[in-house]
Amino acid sequence: MSEKKVPYKIYLTEEEMPKAWYNMRADMKNKPAPLLNPGTGKPLTAEELSPIFCEELVAQELDDTTPFIEIPEEIRDFYKMFRPSPLVRAYCLEEKLQTPAKIYYKFEGNNTSGSHKLNSAIAQAYYAKKQGLKGVTTETGAGQWGTALSMACSYFDLDCKVFMVKVSYEQKPFRREVMRTYGASVVPSPSETTEVGKKILAEHPGTTGSLGCAISEAVEVATKNPGYRYVLGSVLNQVLLHQSVIGLETKIALDKYGIKPDVIIGCAGGGSNLGGLIAPFMGEKLRGEADYQIIAIEPASCPSFTRGKFAYDFCDTGMICPLAKMYTLGSGFIPSSNHAGGLRFHGMSSTLSQLYHDGMMEARSVEQTSVFEAAEQFARVEGILPAPESSHAIRAAIDEALKCKETGEEKTIVFGLTGTGYFDLVAYEKYHDGQMTDEIPTDEQLQESFAKLPKIG
Ligand SMILES: *Cc1c(COP(=O)(O)O)cnc(C)c1O
Repeated sequence: MSEKKVPYKIYLTEEEMPKAWYNMRADMKNKPAPLLNPGTGKPLTAEELSPIFCEELVAQELDDTTPFIEIPEEIRDFYKMFRPSPLVRAYCLEEKLQTPAKIYYKFEGNNTSGSHKLNSAIAQAYYAKKQGLKGVTTETGAGQWGTALSMACSYFDLDCKVFMVKVSYEQKPFRREVMRTYGASVVPSPSETTEVGKKILAEHPGTTGSLGCAISEAVEVATKNPGYRYVLGSVLNQVLLHQSVIGLETKIALDKYGIKPDVIIGCAGGGSNLGGLIAPFMGEKLRGEADYQIIAIEPASCPSFTRGKFAYDFCDTGMICPLAKMYTLGSGFIPSSNHAGGLRFHGMSSTLSQLYHDGMMEARSVEQTSVFEAAEQFARVEGILPAPESSHAIRAAIDEALKCKETGEEKTIVFGLTGTGYFDLVAYEKYHDGQMTDEIPTDEQLQESFAKLPKIG
């Protein structure tokens, strides 16, 4: 059918791999709004952030002018164990859909953690080691971030304490064991090991925990123990910076064959994989050198971009973290039990929020049954068992390709396939047994949550 001038997989050589991350903020005229100190309402300074985060990461977090930041050689060496990741031409999916569209996906699931999160985990562990720290603390919900961080910490011989939301700790024992294999200590949250955990347990005995509570526990342990800092796997500017390696590799691979994408699609939880995938393309768009249609896909059960408010809000439910200006559903919003655990955050990266606000990208929401339908269709022809999160992007890519079938347009579509779904088989089971439902928050529920947004500006 098609002339296969482009190989199924476009790989880069080690020499062709990016040597610097790209910081989109440097090319933005409207910079993302600064993080605020919840106590004073003033922008947070490096001094205020340094008891929580490593120094070098604080610098990256606050730097919105330097376009390229060198990737230290130690990190590049680690990347070489699982990167470059392949850019795959989805010939089989195109054939199945009978579409004139050309579909590519960047596959980030080729490492034990099973997702793109390792790209930032290794960078954050490196800077912690370089600062001479003993260890780091973090929270994990579904478990992908905790797994990636455990791998990164074991590589640099750092202690790693993971607070895992209790319900996931009990329901996903296999993820927990992967983390322990890499030497992390995994504590179900809320726990008796922290003040905030004890307080929550006293107030809500028997609670199964939440991401917000786990963040509060991890931050407490990091700030109370000398030689420890807290690390986060999404949302922050530093994480988007590290994830730019995804987009940079994609661009190098496409340029080798003179391919210019028309549409770029990614799922959006806190925005790190999408921000990374689009980085160099958005850079061209911001500098007026090229134009691309960029689409963020989120679950209809947690629609931060499509139904949220652009406002300052807390990043955690415990309201101890800095305030970020972002599209948010309110820090008290608890999404229904959607199976894409990695997309259940109430807010969105402040960088992507600003770009969306400025009309530089679009967003759509999709319902989970249609997401699993797309996941299954993809698995059957392309072979990879996709993560539920990634499958949001698959849904949209298939929809775009089907539109091309109607119009006859030969668009080039690139999407991010962020990970694999081996730990999500309970969700697949629910889908196969016809027990999966689509839960969408009502306007009243959202209004109730917006009413509790902090009053700033
Ligand atoms: C965490 C995760 C996501 C969502 O996080 P972002 O920061 O929005 O990228 C998407 N896919 C997978 C596989 C994940 O683990």
